Amino acid sequence: MPIARVALDVPLPTLFDYAAADGIASGQRVLVPFGRKQMVGVVMECAADSALTAERIKPIAQVLDETPLLSAGLLALLRFCSDYYHHPIGATVLSALPARLRSGKRAGLEEVPQYALSASGRALGLSEFPKRKVVQRRILAMLSGQPCNLAQIMALSATAGKQLKVLMAEGWVEHYVPVPSQSPEDGRNAVRHTFNNAHTLTAEQQQAVDAVAQTSGYTCFLLHGVTGSGKTEVYVHLMHRALQRGGQVLLLVPEINLTPQLENYFRSRLPDAELVSLHSGLGEGARARNWLSAQSGRARVVLGTRLAVFAPLPQLALLIVDEEHDASFKQQDGLRYSARDVAIFRASQCGAPIVLGSATPSLESYYNAQSGRYTLLQLTGRALAAARLPAVRCININQTVMHHGISENLLREIGQRIERREQSLLFINRRGYAPVLMCSACGWLSGCPNCAGKLVLHLLDRRLRCHHCGYQIRVPNACPSCGDADLKPVGAGTQRVESILLERFPQARILRVDRDSTRHKGAWNVMRQQIHDEAVDILVGTQMLAKGHDFPNLTLVGVLNPDSALYSSDFRASEKLFAQLAQVAGRAGRAGKPGEVLVQTAFPDHPLFRALRHHDYAAWAKTLLGERKSAGFPPFVHQAMLRAEGKQEPAVYAFLQMAREAAIALALPVEVYGVVPAAMPRRASHIRAQLLVQCETRKPLQQFLRAWRPLLDALPANKLRWSLDIDPLEF
Ligand code: ADP
Ligand code: ZN
Ligand code: ZN
Repeated sequence: MPIARVALDVPLPTLFDYAAADGIASGQRVLVPFGRKQMVGVVMECAADSALTAERIKPIAQVLDETPLLSAGLLALLRFCSDYYHHPIGATVLSALPARLRSGKRAGLEEVPQYALSASGRALGLSEFPKRKVVQRRILAMLSGQPCNLAQIMALSATAGKQLKVLMAEGWVEHYVPVPSQSPEDGRNAVRHTFNNAHTLTAEQQQAVDAVAQTSGYTCFLLHGVTGSGKTEVYVHLMHRALQRGGQVLLLVPEINLTPQLENYFRSRLPDAELVSLHSGLGEGARARNWLSAQSGRARVVLGTRLAVFAPLPQLALLIVDEEHDASFKQQDGLRYSARDVAIFRASQCGAPIVLGSATPSLESYYNAQSGRYTLLQLTGRALAAARLPAVRCININQTVMHHGISENLLREIGQRIERREQSLLFINRRGYAPVLMCSACGWLSGCPNCAGKLVLHLLDRRLRCHHCGYQIRVPNACPSCGDADLKPVGAGTQRVESILLERFPQARILRVDRDSTRHKGAWNVMRQQIHDEAVDILVGTQMLAKGHDFPNLTLVGVLNPDSALYSSDFRASEKLFAQLAQVAGRAGRAGKPGEVLVQTAFPDHPLFRALRHHDYAAWAKTLLGERKSAGFPPFVHQAMLRAEGKQEPAVYAFLQMAREAAIALALPVEVYGVVPAAMPRRASHIRAQLLVQCETRKPLQQFLRAWRPLLDALPANKLRWSLDIDPLEF
C-alpha cells in the first residue's frame, strides 16, 4: 500500500506518514486523523514504505482533491521557504493556502455575479441622464463598455454600492451569474491580447524593456528609476509581451499601494487579460476564487501583496516587484519571509525574468546590482517632458522662527500656494496631537504602563493612547505624579499640525490623512477624490501620503521632523528615511508645475539631505554602503535574529542565554552576539530581548541554523514566545 507523506499545520518540522490508496499524488489535499481530531493536510511525497511500523500508520480519511491542487514547482518553492526560514514544513505549506482551502472546502471555481446594462438601461442615453447624479452616471458609463463585477463598481466611489442599488431598482442594471467556462485552460492559448498603448516610450524606458525582452530564462533586473520616470509604463509593456507569449504574470506591490484604482488601471491597460488580486483585505470567498483562477490558468495576471508570491501560476513567465525596498514585503510573524527574496528564488526556479523596481532600491538589491548579480536598468529623468524633479531645500530649524514645530519660512510658502490655488503637503511621521504629555512642574511624562513607549496625546477625543499596545486613558486634569495642573504637549503630531495651520490659515481647506482619519472603510477613497477635485488646500499626513499617488496640483511638500532617524539605534533607519523622503518629494510637481520640497532639520549638512537635494541616490547609497562595510552590517553580512518575549524578565534572558551557549558550543564559523534588550524592551507587559547571529556568507549561516534550530526546540521555554527571523529587517 502506498504511503503518503503529509504536511500538517503543526509546530513540528516533519511530515506525517499515512496509508493511501493507489493513485495518490503529491499536491493533493487530504483529511487525516491526527491525535483526537481530523486535520487537512497536503501530500508532499508518495513512498513505497515508511519507517514506522505498520500498526502505527493510519489511513487517510478522505482525499479532498481529484487532481493535485499544488504543483510540484509550488511544493518545491514551499520546501525551500521552510528550509531557508527554518519554519516547520507543515505550517509553511498550509499558510500558503487561502483559509477556505485550508479548511478542506471543495476547490471549485464559483462564479462572481456580473453587472450589465439591461435593455432599458442601454436605451437610456447618457447625454440625457441628469448631470448631478454623478456616481450613477459613472456606473452607467462603465457598464456601457462591458459587464463588471461588484468590486470594480465599488472602486468608482464610496457611494457606488448604494447608487448601484438605485439603478437596479429602476431596472436599468441587472446582474447574472455567468456559466462556468468548460475548459479552465481557456486563457492559455489566447495570445492575442489587445494593449492600450498610452505613450511612446522614452529612450530609457525602451532600453529597459528591450533589455528584459532580450534575455531568456532567469535574470534579476533592478529597475532604478526616479519618481515619475514611468516605471509602471515599463511594467505594462513587459507584461503585455509576456501575455502575448502565453505566459502568466505576477506583480507584487506594497500593502499600502494595492488599491482598486491600481487594479482597474492595469485592467484598463491590458483589457483582455483576466487579472485577479490577492491580498489580506479580500474576503475568504474572493481570495479562494482568485487563487483558483490563477491555478487553473484562467487568470493571466496576479496583482497582489506579499502573500501573492505563493500564488499558483502554472505558466509564470514574468515577475515584477514594485517598490522592492518596501518593508511590507517582509512578513513579521509566522513564516517570516521576504516576498521579494522568495520572488527572486521563484523566478530562478521557473526560469523567468524578474524585475525589481524602485526609486530608492534597498541597499541589498543595489549592492547586488553593482556586483553584477543583478542587471541594473536606469531611468534617470521624468517621463513627462514637462515634469521636472522638484527643488529640494533644507530649513535649519536652529536659525529660524518656529511655531510649534513649523517654521515661519514654510508657513509663508504654504500661504503663497493657497494664493496661487495650488496644493501643499506636510509630511510628519507621527499621528495624534503630540507624541507625549509632560508636567512642567516635575517633569513627569505620559508613559505607557505596559510598554517602554510613551502615550500619545489625541486631543480630538481627549485621550492618551499607546500606539504599541492600544492601551488608552482619558487625559488627566492634573499630573498623576505631583498633582500640578500645568500639563503640556511636547512635540507635534498630525492633529497638532492641523490645528496650527488652521490658526494661521483660517480659510484654508485642510485634510488630515493618517490611520485615525482613514479608519473607516472607503474614507481614503473619498479623500483622494477630494484632493483630485481640488477641494483641499493643505494635506497633512503620515507615510500613507508618501507613496504612489499622483496629485497634479501639488507643488509644495514640507517635511517636518525627520531628524530622529538620523541617529537611531536601528542601522536601517536612515536608509528608510531617505526612501521615504524621496517618495514624498516625488509627489511634488508631477504635472508640469514646478515642485518644491522644504525639509526642516537641525542637520542640513548631513549626507542624507545633501543627496536628497541633488536627487543623488547613488551618492547616498555609496555613503551608506561605506558605513555598512566598515561596521560589518548587511549587505556585507547575513543575519539571523532569535527573539524571545515573556512576562518574566529572568526567564526571557535565561532562555536566550542558553540558546547563546548552545550556539557557541556548535563551534561553527558564525559570529554569535550577546543577548540584548529589543529596541522596544517592554511591549504589552512583555519583556523582549534578542540574540543576533551573523556571517559573511549565507551558506555557513544556513548550516549553523540547521544545527541550532533543533537545539532551540529542545530548550525549556515555558510561558515564553520565541521566534527565529532570517534576514531580519527590524532591530
Ligand atoms: P513612477 O512609477 O516611475 O513614479 P509613473 O509610472 O507613475 O512613474 O509615471 C509618471 C507619469 O508619467 C504618469 O503620469 C505616466 O502616465 C507618465 N508617463 C510614463 N511614461 C510616459 C511616456 N513614455 N511618455 C509620456 N508620459 C509618460
Ligand atoms: Zn508633575
Ligand atoms: Zn503600550
